[in-house]
Amino acid sequence: MHKHPTCPICKDKLFGRSDKRFCSVKCKNQHHQIARRYLRNMVEMENQRRERNLTLLEGLMDARNDQFETHLNFLSKQGFHLEYCHLRKKEKSYQIYSCYHFVIELRTTGFMKIRRQMSPLFLKDEFYQRYIQDRIRWNYNVTLNTT
Ligand SMILES: [Zn+2]
Repeated sequence: MHKHPTCPICKDKLFGRSDKRFCSVKCKNQHHQIARRYLRNMVEMENQRRERNLTLLEGLMDARNDQFETHLNFLSKQGFHLEYCHLRKKEKSYQIYSCYHFVIELRTTGFMKIRRQMSPLFLKDEFYQRYIQDRIRWNYNVTLNTT
């Protein structure tokens, strides 16, 4: 049975053009307002999760090291979201992800090897200067991987 199309906002029946989606300009505006709010929340949530991933990795990996090993369960418990990293390579026993300037090797067992690569953007930052100072202070090699 053919169902008469209705306005998704006020549920009134739609009359006129067959491709009409809203009964009025008012309902159309309301729909776009709801859609914009929904999309903005989605973008904000994704940004928050990416930021959490980044601060977590930076926090766990201090300036003395450029790599460390951990387990996905441990990171997940701290609020790490692997789904907001980019999958670069998928092999039988491991996967390679990237998260900003971090490269993550994830084994099927959940063990992770995380390596920090300095990005050229990062090099200009004051944060980078502090990083270099810390490495000099702790007597670590200051040559960096800039790829
Ligand atoms: Zn309506």
